[in-house]
Amino acid sequence: MFADVIVDISVEALDRTFQYRVPEEMKDRVSLGCRVKIPFGRADREISGFVIGLSDEAKWPVEKIKSLTAIDENEIPVEGQLLKLAAWIREYYGATMNEALKTVLPVKKQIKSVEEHWLTFAVSREQAERERDRCRLRHFRAKERLLAGMLEEGGEMTTRLAAKKYNATKTVVDGLVKQGILLVTDRRRYRNPFQTEPDTSDAIVLNDQQRKVAEHFCRQYRQGIRGTYLLYGVTGSGKTEVYMEMIRQALLLGQQVIVLIPEIALTYQTVKRFQRQFGDRVSVLNSRMSDGERYDQYERAKKGEIDIIVGPRSALFIPFAHLGLIIMDEEHENSYKSESPPKYHAREVALQRAAMAGASVVLGSATPSVETYLAAGEGRYHMYRLTERAGGAQMPQVHVVDLREELKAKNRSIFSRLLQQKIRERLERQEQVILFLNRRGYAGHVSCRSCGFVLKCNHCEVSMTAHKNHVGEVDTLICHYCGHAIAMPEVCPECGSPYIAAFGMGTQKVEEMLHRTFSQARILRMDGDTTSGKQGHERVLEPFRRGEADILIGTQMIVKGHDFPNVTLVAALAADLGMYDGDYRSNERTFDLLMQAGGRAGRGQKPGEMIIQTYNPEQYCVEAVRVQDAGLFYENELAYRRMTRYPPYSYMMAVLVLSEDQQCGKKCIGALAALAGSAGSEVSVIGPSEAGLSRAKDRFRYVLYVKAAEETAVTEVKHQMEMFSADAEWEKSCSIQYDRNPMSVY
Ligand code: ADP
Ligand code: ZN
Ligand code: ZN
Repeated sequence: MFADVIVDISVEALDRTFQYRVPEEMKDRVSLGCRVKIPFGRADREISGFVIGLSDEAKWPVEKIKSLTAIDENEIPVEGQLLKLAAWIREYYGATMNEALKTVLPVKKQIKSVEEHWLTFAVSREQAERERDRCRLRHFRAKERLLAGMLEEGGEMTTRLAAKKYNATKTVVDGLVKQGILLVTDRRRYRNPFQTEPDTSDAIVLNDQQRKVAEHFCRQYRQGIRGTYLLYGVTGSGKTEVYMEMIRQALLLGQQVIVLIPEIALTYQTVKRFQRQFGDRVSVLNSRMSDGERYDQYERAKKGEIDIIVGPRSALFIPFAHLGLIIMDEEHENSYKSESPPKYHAREVALQRAAMAGASVVLGSATPSVETYLAAGEGRYHMYRLTERAGGAQMPQVHVVDLREELKAKNRSIFSRLLQQKIRERLERQEQVILFLNRRGYAGHVSCRSCGFVLKCNHCEVSMTAHKNHVGEVDTLICHYCGHAIAMPEVCPECGSPYIAAFGMGTQKVEEMLHRTFSQARILRMDGDTTSGKQGHERVLEPFRRGEADILIGTQMIVKGHDFPNVTLVAALAADLGMYDGDYRSNERTFDLLMQAGGRAGRGQKPGEMIIQTYNPEQYCVEAVRVQDAGLFYENELAYRRMTRYPPYSYMMAVLVLSEDQQCGKKCIGALAALAGSAGSEVSVIGPSEAGLSRAKDRFRYVLYVKAAEETAVTEVKHQMEMFSADAEWEKSCSIQYDRNPMSVY
């Protein structure tokens, strides 16, 4: 047996593994991630390394391979834990060990040729300004110039910039440092670059519900109980304040905390809230950071300079040696799932990491995922509930408009009569309105505008998806689960009405019509076309927040996580858009979206209203939002999942084959389907079929789904497929991706 060993924990090291022989007596104790002692270099100096691969095959002539000298069985250092986590990710999600390790390990910072130092203030902004003015009066020109520059740059700059742009000599800098005005550090400070003045804003006193939750959690935590908790609280119920208490408790016991927040909600305001509480023991990760900045955070975490990291899913891999708590806000968010291999879900990995580290996990949401809700219902997670908005604001009043009735009343506009009336009221009262479409795309389900009938697959109990021909007309309907295809019917199969069409409508069209109906309204539109990049969002949202527009139109991204106190009306123009997209999770997504959208209305002092326009008012995901009773949704959804044996009552895996060669791709997916089909009666196979996105970047895409009651059965099928495909010739021509517990259909 041979072990691949890395001596340096970084992505670059993956290209520099060293193979060692595992002596007979160590075979039972060696495992991925374990720390070993190896003879290294010409002098065979003994150093430490980590095992990241095990195999029976020697890569070199056997006599040239040295042996491990020892397995280090002291407490596993945090790097070892992360390598073990990578091994688990590889095993569970199916990816190469390299892909898994790259997910977990940081990219090393380029060593800069010029040493850079950062200047920051050792005093408050007011004191800094006073000192600048004093220097001006005394004609200390160089000092004045540097201080003014520092203030201009927002309180921090590199010494290089100071020299170049403000002609600051070393003497000037040293002088100000000696005076206690400036600080020189060898890295940027990830906090307010000014010394913070004491926080004078009133500390929030937890209300009864919040306090009970915090007290229960903290008591258990002090008693050494570690578990998984669901904090299920309506939008605005003050979950963040509860997290703060939990974090404080973990810190008191000397433990460290990971706070996961979806990228889209990771705004300046959110981060600020944590920094106000915990000062410079908090650090932040986000996708805009350079590799170097990221690497800094990893280093600081390893040295124990920080105790709390706030970030998106990649923050899970911060090397905290004393991890005691992982908080995952908005745990139902789809962005927690990685879209490239390994296609891991942050919740699943968080539970795994917490188990390895002996930490608790707190999942928070106003609309928990169905999986989490069931786990809490069955007592696998401890459930906490917050049922009221913390600031005393009311939940919104929800109206459902039946669009079939609008058609009968000869209203052909996409704005129902009720919506038009409510918008007019808002314009008169100078309050704001948000209108949104469930999604951006055009392709969608096909339904009848007269009777609401939705075309579904005969075999799968999911809706068929419209596909356009080369001139842009919908001519075929395909089931994305089994591949069943039919021609687009001319009339509704249910009632014979000719008003049958693929449902789809763009935000741009909505804007045009809105202008026509409300010519005096100031309108802003936000979608992928008007914004690019993260700052792009703010370019639209900021003016809206400042009240420079009356109506904001957009896709679902405008209703997630934003807080606009003057918005008193939110409307879903076509709630059905997401409801039938050929996916067993579409009800859940629709419910989550409508519920979150309702949460945007009436956040301030004024009460809010929501309007849901739909052809299917009787759908339980709509009805549950109307009566603001999430329980009603979960009850129905769980019954549906149980009946159809979809997750969480089964385990699923999508297998995606990508190939430039169409025939090759078809053959490959066929062979994999046959393999899964022979796995035994407890495994069912759906497909294979063309993926909904049937070709992308010149590659054809085929998909099949594997479903089983036992998770291990799915894992076994994946193993079989991996072994099978490693041998075959199509390894070169086809790429195979596995997606455990997929969030949507392909
Ligand atoms: P959630 O995350 O549950 O949607 P937040 O934590 O963002 O809710 O809190 C919503 C608002 O209520 C925030 O402005 C917060 O400052 C405020 N808030 C939270 N707890 C209290 C409290 N106990 N008393 C007064 N205001 C509170
Ligand atoms: Zn019909
Ligand atoms: Zn089907």
